Amino acid sequence: MTRADTLAERHAYLEGGLAEVRCGRCGADVRARKLSPRHTSVQWSTRAERACAVLAAAAAAGGVTALVPTCPDLRDSIDRAVCEGRLAVSEGHLGAA
Ligand SMILES: [Zn+2]
Repeated sequence: MTRADTLAERHAYLEGGLAEVRCGRCGADVRARKLSPRHTSVQWSTRAERACAVLAAAAAAGGVTALVPTCPDLRDSIDRAVCEGRLAVSEGHLGAA
C-alpha cells in the first residue's frame, strides 16, 4: 500500500464521519463514528479484535463479539477523541434512511 493510498483511504473515512480511535488500554485500533452523543458505531478489524482483551475473551467464549460491541476502555478513548475534536458527532444523519 502506498502512502497516497493510505491518505486517500483515511480521507474517505473522515468524510463518512469515521475516525480511527485507539483503545487506551489494549491498543486496538478501530474506526468509530458518533451517530449522536449517545450512539457510537464501532468497526472492529480482525486485528483489533485480537488486540482487545475484552473482545478476545468474548470471541474465545463462543464468538459472540456482536454482543460485546466495545470494551469499556475503548469507550473512554472514544469519549476522549470526541472531547479533543478528533471524532465529530455526525448529528442530522439519524433517520436519513
Ligand atoms: Zn480494549
